[in-house]
Amino acid sequence: MNDHVVPIHHLQGVGKQIAKHLARLHIYSIQDLLFHLPIRYQDRTNIQMIHSLIRDQEAVIEGEIQVVSQPRRGKTKLLCELQDKTGTIHLRFFHVLSFQAKILRRGVRLRCYGDVRLGSAGLEMIHPEFQVITLDKPLALLQHLTPIYSATDGLSQYTLRKLAASALAWMEREHILEERVPSSIIHSHSFPTLKQALQFIHRPPREALADLMANKTLAHKRLVFEELLSHRLSLLRIKRVFKAQPSVSLAEGGTLIQHYLHHLPFTLTAAQQRVHHEIKYDLSQTHPMLRLIQGDVGSGKTVIAALAMLQAVENGYQAVLMAPTELLAEQHYQVFKRWFEPLKIQLAFLSSHVKSVVRKTMLTSIANCTAQIILGTHALFQEHVQFAKLALIIIDEQHRFGVHQRALLREKGMHASYHPHQLIMTATPIPRTLAMSFYADLDCSLIDELPPGRLPIVTSVLANHRRDEVITRIREACCAGRQVYWVCPLIEESDVLHCQAAVKTAEQLQKELPTCQVGLIHGRTSSQDKESVMQAFQQGQINILVATTVIEVGVDVANASVMIIENAERLGLAQLHQLRGRVGRGTIASHCVLLYQHPLSDLAKERLAIMRNTNDGFQIAQKDLELRGPGEVLGTKQTGELSFKIADLVRDYELIAPVQQAADILLRDDAYDADVLIERWLGNKQAYRV
Ligand code: ADP
Ligand code: MG
Repeated sequence: MNDHVVPIHHLQGVGKQIAKHLARLHIYSIQDLLFHLPIRYQDRTNIQMIHSLIRDQEAVIEGEIQVVSQPRRGKTKLLCELQDKTGTIHLRFFHVLSFQAKILRRGVRLRCYGDVRLGSAGLEMIHPEFQVITLDKPLALLQHLTPIYSATDGLSQYTLRKLAASALAWMEREHILEERVPSSIIHSHSFPTLKQALQFIHRPPREALADLMANKTLAHKRLVFEELLSHRLSLLRIKRVFKAQPSVSLAEGGTLIQHYLHHLPFTLTAAQQRVHHEIKYDLSQTHPMLRLIQGDVGSGKTVIAALAMLQAVENGYQAVLMAPTELLAEQHYQVFKRWFEPLKIQLAFLSSHVKSVVRKTMLTSIANCTAQIILGTHALFQEHVQFAKLALIIIDEQHRFGVHQRALLREKGMHASYHPHQLIMTATPIPRTLAMSFYADLDCSLIDELPPGRLPIVTSVLANHRRDEVITRIREACCAGRQVYWVCPLIEESDVLHCQAAVKTAEQLQKELPTCQVGLIHGRTSSQDKESVMQAFQQGQINILVATTVIEVGVDVANASVMIIENAERLGLAQLHQLRGRVGRGTIASHCVLLYQHPLSDLAKERLAIMRNTNDGFQIAQKDLELRGPGEVLGTKQTGELSFKIADLVRDYELIAPVQQAADILLRDDAYDADVLIERWLGNKQAYRV
């Protein structure tokens, strides 16, 4: 029995040159070659009569060459007429090699395979594959469908077919790719074994053609199942290793939390309470928490973060909260100051914009533990920040946080003798099942409820030329004491031009609405100005805030109830949902207007319609997944993470749940088999290694 990956050059017929070509297809081992599945099939199992040929279909025919004519110019062109007992067809060659020209003579019998086309003189085949038939050596007919693989320059279908066939033979002879999925699972799904599945897919019987084209065969499902299973096992193993590390146990039940809750102007929703409960328990353990909070925009994640941080502080430890933007970090700082200063808790703030004098004091306070709660941007982890007693790391709004980054963070946060607990919060809800497979190395908590009294945001989609109506609406809203966001998303490549566009919009709006106070915030606004503008908006001194997408995540101003988004057709669903989530945070009915530039593509129409029809982040995520695929939705396309050889998380969605069950069984009963599966499917993916 052989569980090791066998380098491709062990296969007969694979020399340096072919190995190089195969590498371009990411085939390095015999196993890789076997998992390089056909993209489609041809049916060459029966010979068709020439009179029954249909144009634009592939066919096998047999006949005798009647006439051979070399068209006038160019010696490489050749046309011949092939005849069987029912009719004739032309075979047209544009580049015929000299040895082929010698074969293609009058009276020779051929078996040809090719596409039937309608030419100037009736049906023809252009450059058919052909074999000569001699009476003493009759050709056997193929019993199987002919696979077509994705190929590359220098590697013909013929070579690939031959290689695949010898890889299959190797598999049977050398016992590679032995069955590792428990037989109970194979039986309950009526799956074939792995080997049967591979044999079937590379050399399928003729009847299977339709199912094969739809990737609907059990053999295919069987492979997808195993691949998904291996990915999940890998993530679970990472989690298990991490969870075995030591960390400090933070006891529950201190008075700080009671005081804090007592002074909050609201009570926690049931969902918030449940999630807080889960976190409280995790933090009291001697192994690190690794938890993801998923909660739609406005579901109240910040309070949960505060509660977790208080538990660290009560126990004499530090906690840090990292936000993806300066603006959000700054807002958190203001909110936490308001919450925590009455409790006599020391806070520190750090971002790349903090001036060096202040920074020095901050760094000292972090290093000598006078700062108990530390807030900031990724500067917190990029610079030489020394934490005295860090017990908890929280990351807010990290909706594009891949396995790889998660691993990095764990390393960075690692203290001499213990690992800090980790909490990751995201508002980009991805479909639950997908989340469970993408975040299998984390425990997930879901805040599936909004605070009471929230009214759904009413969204309208309007063409740019109806801007006047929008201005009228804004005027009314401002008169009624409401506040408005006006977002100008990136349409210019350059940051400078982009900011200029926002400046222009702000000037124009101020002209159109002279009685309103218009504020402006963009990527180039200094942090000081950002702070004062946000404060003025927060306090209601600014009625209309013109902004670039800097306000996309986290910003929380309850009185703002109108959101205008220009060029909405250029933004992704997740981003639109985030932006829209800036309103509808209080108890006032909110409106969102998506302005677009005519004409809209079909896809853009569909996306804007989704935004109009629902406010539910999970539904939007599901649609997004269907429209763009999981790579885009999870932001993993560039990094290559979660790239499957065969599986497709959208198409194979219904397999995810059974895969989860199978992974649990396997990890419980057969760790060795699990290791083999991980190596088999993810062997060269470092990101998944512990
Ligand atoms: P998000 O989950 O998007 O980060 P926030 O934490 O910013 O949401 O909360 C949105 C708003 O809802 C904030 O103003 C917050 O104070 C308020 N909020 C949070 N929890 C509750 C609750 N249980 N009842 C009422 N308001 C709440
Ligand atoms: Mg938030």
